[in-house]
Amino acid sequence: MTQRLQTFRHDSSGGIHSVPSHERRPVLELKGAERYYGETVALHPTDLAIAEGKTTALIGPSGCGKSTMLRLMAGLITPTAGSVLFNGRPVTPETVHAIRRKIGYVVQEGGLFPHMTAAHNVTLVARHLGWDPGPINARLNNLLQLVGMTSDHLARYPSRLSGGQRQRVSLMRALFLDPDVLLLDEPLGALDPMIRYDLQEELRAIFRKLQKTVIVVTHDMAEAAFLGDTIVLLKSGRVVQHSTMGDMLALPANPFVTAFLRAQRAVPQPEIV
Ligand code: ADP
Ligand code: MG
Repeated sequence: MTQRLQTFRHDSSGGIHSVPSHERRPVLELKGAERYYGETVALHPTDLAIAEGKTTALIGPSGCGKSTMLRLMAGLITPTAGSVLFNGRPVTPETVHAIRRKIGYVVQEGGLFPHMTAAHNVTLVARHLGWDPGPINARLNNLLQLVGMTSDHLARYPSRLSGGQRQRVSLMRALFLDPDVLLLDEPLGALDPMIRYDLQEELRAIFRKLQKTVIVVTHDMAEAAFLGDTIVLLKSGRVVQHSTMGDMLALPANPFVTAFLRAQRAVPQPEIV
């Protein structure tokens, strides 16, 4: 097996980024991107490159700017300063609509419309774009298989689905137009532990099958390590480290990284007598 060579790069926000020697072309990039809400700095000037075809886990304490970063990448908000690039081209008011169709986005809490059936939620944008019923049904069946659901589920309103089923429907909706990039904001945050465990397995299998560029937000380090090829750790609106989990353990950028890793409690093991 060939050894992966790693180099390290300091960015403008002071974080350490490990860069694999065979780094792929970035699909999404933040270049000095900064975002204020009134007086609040949600994101300090940040440089970040998201590699193509990989899963990046975005993690950090509540309020550290994870959702802000995802909304900037989805083109839903604009940076106060700096820029967001998609496939090397800046996201501008002129390009944002075309780019948004190439990005599937699942908002925190799933964001399904409660007054529409699951099927209507999933097909909403395609119908708006004038797709014919034939291709819509073909795509629906394809996605049902992918997420392991049946057409019976799709006839229901979101309130008649379980939390895990709602997340699957949100994922189908985000994937409907076959986007290049999938952004998921805490997709498993509201689920109970056993359903969460199963869905983590399913999501990872789906990401591997689709080979898309995925950015998934979580506040759980084990989940980030399980789903992410690389991890971006944020603190107070700054990237603290962007690296593999192995590098975070072996080469933490600062004491916060180690403290954050330690703050995840493991299940006690039974004592062997
Ligand atoms: P996270 O997703 O990591 O919990 P957010 O990106 O939602 O964090 O928020 C980062 C910071 O920006 C927080 O201080 C939050 O209160 C603030 N913020 C986020 N969205 C808004 C908004 N629409 N209006 C005002 N402040 C906001
Ligand atoms: Mg959030």
